[in-house]
Amino acid sequence: MPQNINKAVEKVLDAYPAKVMKNRKSHMVIRETEKIQEIDANTRTIPGIITNRGCAYAGCKGVVIGPIIDMVHIVHGPIGCAYYTWGTRRNKGKTREGGQNFLEYSFCTDLGESDIVFGGEKKLIKAIDEAVALFHPKAISISATCPVGLIGDDIHQVAKQATKEYGIPVLSFSCEGYKGVSQSAGHHIANNKLMSEVIGKNEAYEAKAYSINMLGEYNIGGDEWEISRVMNKIGYHVITSMTGNSVYDEIAAAHKADLNIVQCHRSINYIAEMIEKKYGLPWIKVNFIGIASMSKSLRDMAKYFGDEELINRTEQVIAEEIAEIEEDITHYKKMCEGKTAMLFVGGSRAHHYQGLLKELGMETILAGYQFGHRDDYEGRDVIPNIKLDADSRNIEEIKVEKDQDNYQLRISEEKYKQLQEEIPLGNYKGMISEMGDGTVVIDDLNHFETEQFVKALKPDMFGSGIKDKYMVQKMGVYSKQIHSYDYAGPYAGFRGAVNFARDIAAGMNTSAWKYIISPWKKEPIITGKMGVDQVC
Ligand code: SF4
Repeated sequence: MPQNINKAVEKVLDAYPAKVMKNRKSHMVIRETEKIQEIDANTRTIPGIITNRGCAYAGCKGVVIGPIIDMVHIVHGPIGCAYYTWGTRRNKGKTREGGQNFLEYSFCTDLGESDIVFGGEKKLIKAIDEAVALFHPKAISISATCPVGLIGDDIHQVAKQATKEYGIPVLSFSCEGYKGVSQSAGHHIANNKLMSEVIGKNEAYEAKAYSINMLGEYNIGGDEWEISRVMNKIGYHVITSMTGNSVYDEIAAAHKADLNIVQCHRSINYIAEMIEKKYGLPWIKVNFIGIASMSKSLRDMAKYFGDEELINRTEQVIAEEIAEIEEDITHYKKMCEGKTAMLFVGGSRAHHYQGLLKELGMETILAGYQFGHRDDYEGRDVIPNIKLDADSRNIEEIKVEKDQDNYQLRISEEKYKQLQEEIPLGNYKGMISEMGDGTVVIDDLNHFETEQFVKALKPDMFGSGIKDKYMVQKMGVYSKQIHSYDYAGPYAGFRGAVNFARDIAAGMNTSAWKYIISPWKKEPIITGKMGVDQVC
């Protein structure tokens, strides 16, 4: 356990002006496992502090809506927002037989000066027109960027008209970048629209036994494919993943499943809750990163269904899968054992990866989220105590009612209560509860703090994103991208655990780290003689 953590935190805070210091202090927690601890989160970013956060548009189009493969996603705005999100998030998708896949494209209305002055609606109508004529997509999305809200373009009216005219769903998202305080607002905006206009619309879909939806899984580097491989082997039928590798019609049939499993709680808990209220379909929190977490999640799912055959099959598959990877994991563990990690990732992975690191003999000494809320840190029990501030109050909360035709209790209320004692049914305990004494939890870590904590805690690995990867590596510490996986993967599931172990074992042990300091800075390498017999 790091002894110098208190000092490191004090030193960082000391460098700030009083007001900033007070703010940042409330976003840091030094873990004391005996205590119930609170953290400030989901509040406005301090200007000029060099945050890693993104915007609501990134959370809506970039994270939740963009991965739906057979929709044309039109970015309504100047070109930058579309260009910088073109293929940079590695959500993969396989074209269904006879279906379409637009993942390779980036569509944009490319607003210019005159559109800002005279309005961009005409250009948007023309873009939809062109998209329909050229691509005949299943559905279209329109994502608003910063200027759209300011100039007052009515994208919802345009979408309504286009839906009528072309007979395909056209979904409009008011996810202007300045809404909320981070990507998180965009997740919420996307969840609302998927719930009100997509989920439940595919009535013809015929669900099979053990039908599930995988919520908050975006198929980065093929994660969803690897998880689905195991699910299919056990006998589950995955109706849809939301939204990695998804197609419109499958999302529209999500209400036909018997269970929602939630991987990324932050980005999709709204849909999980609303589907339960509207269709009676419960959700459980799962974690498919790491061997123990994957096994536990599969066992929890089997327990929910309670079928003896499914439970046995689950055990059989877990045993087979572990037998297949055991040797590799043991090998890589030898290269990772005893090392420490710092994790700073979006809104869920800083928690998800801690178990896998532990299995490799590594300890996570610092962890934080860019845009987690207090419930992602402290658990969902804290939700009634969270006060919405002015920055988040403008994000719409939609209310759903029981669907009279399609509501169906999947399990009795007694069974639900009984299962809640055993599995995370409708609940998530958050990251803090699983962190050890003396570790530190930091919300919205910035570049100054990253540098200071890397210097003070000297981790062997820093798991984060592209923006801080190279600054950390310049300090001589291996940095692993946990968003893009450094263009590798999958990292989820049993086989994914081996991929991750191999990649970080290689990254931490590469001989390049030994050559950072020039040899002549460590020891004199030139020897010479002065005079006859004096050596200097
Ligand atoms: S903040 Fe605004 S301009 Fe920047 S990427 Fe987001 S939507 Fe685009």
